[in-house]
Amino acid sequence: MTPIPYRIGHGYDLHRLQAGGRLMLAGIEAAQGLSPVAHSDGDVVLHALVDALLGAMGLGDIGELFPNTDPKWKDAPSRVFVEEVIKRISDRGYRVLNCDVTILAERPKLKLLKSSMRENIARLLNVEPERINVKAGTNEGVDAIGRGEAIAAHAVVLLAM
Ligand code: MG
Repeated sequence: MTPIPYRIGHGYDLHRLQAGGRLMLAGIEAAQGLSPVAHSDGDVVLHALVDALLGAMGLGDIGELFPNTDPKWKDAPSRVFVEEVIKRISDRGYRVLNCDVTILAERPKLKLLKSSMRENIARLLNVEPERINVKAGTNEGVDAIGRGEAIAAHAVVLLAM
């Protein structure tokens, strides 16, 4: 097959929110007293990112690689999923060109956390922060996200050989 010079991928994730615990977003502690209902640490940003990376590389989805029925991933920090997937991508001769993330949350307010999330994603992907973008929005009070019952994230990545 002709080599594919560029590969694009999209990822989406949503978790329900509950009182107590802590909320990890992009590997950063974004809130205390609020947490995702999840098997791992439930980091929606890193889960969306992992699915975007897997999608770009044609490697399936996060549930296939890291099943939430596997006790190995109970309370796992989601950065281990990113690290594993980045390894598979570099093993295949690809690297991340850029990544764009959108987080949808009524709470907590994320404005002040965007730059540290950007830097942490850059660190996890082994790229400069200028290659990463993090956007945050609410859902205008509409649906489960708008009512603060859930949090969601989208990620798009572009890989190059
Ligand atoms: Mg998830």
